[in-house]
Amino acid sequence: MALVSMRQLLDEAAKGGYGIGAFNVNNMEQIQSIMEAARETKSPVIVQASRGARAYSQDRFLYHLMMAATELYPEIPTVLHLDHGNSPETCKSAIEMGFTSVMMDGSLMPDGKTPSSFEYNVQVTKEVVEMAHARGVTVEAEIGCLGGIEDGHGMGGDGLDHLTDPAQAEEFVKLTGCDALAIAIGTSHGAYKFSRKPDGEVLKMDVLIEIHKRLPETHLVMHGSSSVPQELQDIINKYGGKLKPTFGVPVEEIQLGIRNGVRKVNVDTDNRLAITGAIRKVFMEAPEKFDPRDYMKPAREAMKKVVMERMVQFGQAGHAGDYEPIPLEQMAERYKTMAVA
Ligand SMILES: [Zn+2]
Repeated sequence: MALVSMRQLLDEAAKGGYGIGAFNVNNMEQIQSIMEAARETKSPVIVQASRGARAYSQDRFLYHLMMAATELYPEIPTVLHLDHGNSPETCKSAIEMGFTSVMMDGSLMPDGKTPSSFEYNVQVTKEVVEMAHARGVTVEAEIGCLGGIEDGHGMGGDGLDHLTDPAQAEEFVKLTGCDALAIAIGTSHGAYKFSRKPDGEVLKMDVLIEIHKRLPETHLVMHGSSSVPQELQDIINKYGGKLKPTFGVPVEEIQLGIRNGVRKVNVDTDNRLAITGAIRKVFMEAPEKFDPRDYMKPAREAMKKVVMERMVQFGQAGHAGDYEPIPLEQMAERYKTMAVA
């Protein structure tokens, strides 16, 4: 099976009333963890690479690893998505490389740090929508800014400074014709999202629900949505790590989001924690070992376990075989008939 368009996966998720986890990758083992988890739970898959990941692994490596994944797991509809493209040029290079979905994050300027104007965001997003849809490629956009910094991307802060304005979100989707919309509701990138279990003061699920009311047809995306489980923090700290106490987004809040139009849920930190905990455990318990496979194997297993849990919790499990993939050329034809203001 070739890589498929993200739009198709999200449309199907909307029909079925479930969400799909989008997991970040930088290397072979992470891709293997996700694909094995998908096979075991029969889940459609969104694999995403940030600019940082593309630079770390060189994107031709990532692309060919993903092609291997589609050969080895032909029964799994698989999307390769660019996470937080900072400019139309970055999105263009990803599309040319074979990514089937891109995020144009015009909420920030190309430096990936400075909040932009509404007009700038509309302009760059529209540009990417035109370029991507002509090839059947999906576009995720962002309005409002998340907190925190990850892979050098983000404006920092606690995530409450630039919450998404629902009326502006509505106008933005009308003007740009984007397929999916990332919104800022108080979440942050990275491990340090909240200093206590989040309530409505810091995690604005009411904003999300209002946006969904205004845009019932738009696929919403929750970024910074790792749950940062205490068990994973404990394993790291038990084996010599020094994580400070922190709280993520509780799974039940994500599930509330999924009942209100969230179709894509970005998870990275939880997988990073699982990998690091597993490696630390081997290093502490068996310091005589020096074959990387001795710690990469348990790391891969630990990440697979987290991904499987999320696939079940988000509801995507069991849905891999629901539909035939639509070729990108056919998606491009379909976009021609969709009017954009
Ligand atoms: Zn993000």
